[in-house]
Amino acid sequence: MRAHEAGILHAEGYGAAPQWLPFPQDVMELLPQLWPSNVVRDPSGVLSIAGVPVTDIARDFGTAAYVVDEDDFRSRARAFRDDFTAPFAAVAGADVYYAGKAFLCTAVARWVMEEGLNLDTCSGGELAVAQRVGFPAERVALHGNNKSVAELRQALEYGIGRIVVDSFDEIDRVAAVASELGVTAPVMVRVTVGVEAHTHEFIATAHEDQKFGFSLAGGQARAAIDAIVAKGESLRLLGLHSHIGSQIFDTSGFEIAARRLVGLHTEVADEHGIAMPEMDLGGGYGIAYTSEHEPLTPGQLGTQMAELVDRELKEFRDGHPQAVLPRISIEPGRAIAGPSAFTLYEIGTVKDVEVSHGVLRSYVSVDGGMSDNVRTALYGADYSCTLAGRRSDAEPRLVRVVGRHCESGDIVVMDEYLPGDIVPGDLIAVPGTGAYCRSLSNQYNHTPRPPVLAVRDGATRVIVRRETIDDLLALDVDEPSLSQEVR
Ligand SMILES: *Cc1c(COP(=O)(O)O)cnc(C)c1O
Repeated sequence: MRAHEAGILHAEGYGAAPQWLPFPQDVMELLPQLWPSNVVRDPSGVLSIAGVPVTDIARDFGTAAYVVDEDDFRSRARAFRDDFTAPFAAVAGADVYYAGKAFLCTAVARWVMEEGLNLDTCSGGELAVAQRVGFPAERVALHGNNKSVAELRQALEYGIGRIVVDSFDEIDRVAAVASELGVTAPVMVRVTVGVEAHTHEFIATAHEDQKFGFSLAGGQARAAIDAIVAKGESLRLLGLHSHIGSQIFDTSGFEIAARRLVGLHTEVADEHGIAMPEMDLGGGYGIAYTSEHEPLTPGQLGTQMAELVDRELKEFRDGHPQAVLPRISIEPGRAIAGPSAFTLYEIGTVKDVEVSHGVLRSYVSVDGGMSDNVRTALYGADYSCTLAGRRSDAEPRLVRVVGRHCESGDIVVMDEYLPGDIVPGDLIAVPGTGAYCRSLSNQYNHTPRPPVLAVRDGATRVIVRRETIDDLLALDVDEPSLSQEVR
């Protein structure tokens, strides 16, 4: 758990903040790294996004709501497409796949397509979104450790650009579906490289105890390649794939992953005479959820990643002067979708609780919670928030923002300072909710899910509508009551 005990006890008896959370100089200040680029606070204290005040959004669309800065999303996508990939021109080029699991709907799939990125999917449902918008099939990838035969058929009939295979069972399955359809399936091999990244550090081991991929150290990755080659016509080996984790802030873990992938890449060249044309280093680039996070820009990441790839490929290049170098792909999800949105909530209750003798905690309840943002409950993620609908000069107070669900772990923001005069009816905004919030949302307590609103050039549009009670009940099959039948 957290080191609240280590923090400072503040005025009025409101408890101890974690050490990373400084007492704010100005509780109304917006830290630019946390907010979509078109969010500002006007002199009356109201936040606006792309020219639209959040008070108008709350009035017209209700709360809770996910609010996306479309221009910010598109700019981040473009920054990966251009700034990240530019330094790879000196290696063998790079492609960016947006990881749809971070947040996908038809509008977002269109934005990704229009901005010239490729798309990662990991289910038949995500694939269906790509198909719905006519995403060019050769720019789409399919991942997953247990894809069904139906999903593989859906992908191959669509003409998908790559299937990342994850088990020996799946190699057989993909080959069988491909021969049944009379096509060649383009496959990559998901390799477990033994690098696991956790935010500020990574661990490099030989073996990994997890469900994804073929182990490099255990020899399964080699055996998978042999199995794919043995399938002949039905499979085409594109290259190796690894994904080392999420919310990563430095590139040293990627360097070890690249070194290990290049080792296997070289073995395949030597033993099968195949220079695989692709190599995928996955996603996982971190974003700022609070003042403690300082992410690199896509341009900085691209420079560092291109350098490390170039370094790790040197030996292969020297030993195989004729061979084509693998084109690198990356799969950012969070780093594109996350910072481009915030969640707008209305405060329903404010309650002071005595947590120990003389120490109070202020619980601020909002009209959402673990149904629209499960990350805090699921893995203790940190978020921040701000008063969004008015100005306040009140002394900051440490609060915990909680949801409306029947779980005491239903926390949205564990620790944050808000003005001490907050009251029911106030709006608050939680930034950094563009990734893994809507996509992980649920209907716990029969709570209709919030809409996703896209704001651009002073106009707000619904891109995913709010769920209704009818939506919630639509799947229930009404059965005649037994007692009525008997009567
Ligand atoms: C989750 C995932 C991603 C995206 O991760 P982010 O942290 O959102 O960048 C990319 N590739 C694979 C294989 C993943 O599982």
